[in-house]
Amino acid sequence: MKFGGFVLCRREDDGERVCRSLWKCPARHVWWHWADRPDETLEACPIPEAFR
Ligand SMILES: [Zn+2]
Repeated sequence: MKFGGFVLCRREDDGERVCRSLWKCPARHVWWHWADRPDETLEACPIPEAFR
């Protein structure tokens, strides 16, 4: 997995604006998770075309 930068998002859980860390796998899929919750599993990014 290759780090792809940060994306600032609104988090519905707590209403905060928090960065997501972006990751790209060798098959060029895009994954992300909350940067302040690194223990959470990566989720498939629903808008991968925005980050290619
Ligand atoms: Zn993949």
